[in-house]
Amino acid sequence: MNKNACKFYLKKISFFIFFCLLSFLNANAQDTLQKVNLSKKNAISQQQKPYVILISIDGFRWDLADKYKAKNLIALRKAGVEAEYLKPSFPSLTFPNHYTIATGLYPVHHGIVDNNFYDKKREVIYRKSDKVMAVDSSWYAGKPIWVLAEEQQMLSAIYYWPGSEISMNGIRPTYFYNYNEIIPMGRRIETVKNWLQLPDHKRPHLIAFYFPQVDKAGHNYSVNSKATEAAVLEVDDAIGQLVQVAKATQLPINFMVVSDHGMTPIDQENTIPLPKAINLSQFVVPPGTALLHLYAKNEAYIQSTYQALKADTTNYIVYLAKDIPKAWHYNKQSDIYNRVGDIILVPKLPKVFSINGLKSDVGQHGFDPSISDMHAIFYAQGPQFKSGIKIKAFENVHIYPLIAQILGLKINDKIDGKLEVLAPILNSPRLK
Ligand code: AMP
Ligand code: ZN
Ligand code: ZN
Repeated sequence: MNKNACKFYLKKISFFIFFCLLSFLNANAQDTLQKVNLSKKNAISQQQKPYVILISIDGFRWDLADKYKAKNLIALRKAGVEAEYLKPSFPSLTFPNHYTIATGLYPVHHGIVDNNFYDKKREVIYRKSDKVMAVDSSWYAGKPIWVLAEEQQMLSAIYYWPGSEISMNGIRPTYFYNYNEIIPMGRRIETVKNWLQLPDHKRPHLIAFYFPQVDKAGHNYSVNSKATEAAVLEVDDAIGQLVQVAKATQLPINFMVVSDHGMTPIDQENTIPLPKAINLSQFVVPPGTALLHLYAKNEAYIQSTYQALKADTTNYIVYLAKDIPKAWHYNKQSDIYNRVGDIILVPKLPKVFSINGLKSDVGQHGFDPSISDMHAIFYAQGPQFKSGIKIKAFENVHIYPLIAQILGLKINDKIDGKLEVLAPILNSPRLK
């Protein structure tokens, strides 16, 4: 063999050894990111209960499965239940809505009234992007569904959900992750498979799983882009794999696929600056595009500023907190944590606010939940659901009592969601 051929074969062999090593390491890699409470077990009485896998696809507008031919989602809803659409709570933003789905409470009742808001008592602006605040339980009220399950000795596993990392009176999901976007999808699906293969006393009955891809593509490239199509198909493929994983276990697993809100194209060029009528020495104004809150430093400033803002409403609608539309469940009377602005401004689409002068994303959400582009999805399938039915649209507060009913969990606290709304989609519903 000549020198060159020898070099060529040596190179090939070292590549082969490198790839074998890589696959070996990958297959045996320890999941150091998963948080596990080793001391917890399902009570014997919980071990016979069914399972729920709750999937959220962030920003998945009501029409996207058909628009981009998401075959696994279409098959899932066809075999189960499909709602005309799922109505988000106001404002149609990620944190308020995920936490509403998790608690069965409107945002003013669970306290996360926006992605960014001001708390007058604490004199602090909450920002969902602040890693410390986003997991600080003192901002969050209500009882998330995973806490309800854990309190009743039923194990839960949450693969990302706003609020799932907080310790609520010392209670957390038995299995969970701190939010990150680095774990490859195949690994995440493998983890769900592992959870479902745990012995009866260790297997979670409630699993939640979150996909950020469609929302990101909608913001950056618009809902009508190739990028959104690719994101929809990527998520659809992952859901197809999750369904196969669940099927192979032969366990009574019920899937619920939801989204938190839709997405709409906006006017990126002509954004609305901070109106001149607002004096920043008199008001705290946290960043916002689809909704601006004005928190008065002194109540005496409210009426005059409101009147000044009313003088030019070409680009926005202005509300005093007490006059916010009843349908939004967001006005002063319901705002128990006093976190909605004294005045709020809602832009007239396709305009949005940009008070810091930054260019807006091409797609946005956060607007009135009755606008069709803000509508979300609800698809459900599994042994506890009727099959092949379509139901009318409903508000996302009603998902919580439905999950509790399937898992046989008792709700002792007052919530906004009502079991009567979704009980008809269950096989032999047991109304409490
Ligand atoms: P939005 O700004 O309303 O479009 O929120 C969507 C973004 O929220 C996602 O792209 C993520 O970056 C972020 N996000 C979603 N879930 C979480 C979470 N559990 N913790 C922290 N950030 C999150
Ligand atoms: Zn979202
Ligand atoms: Zn978004």
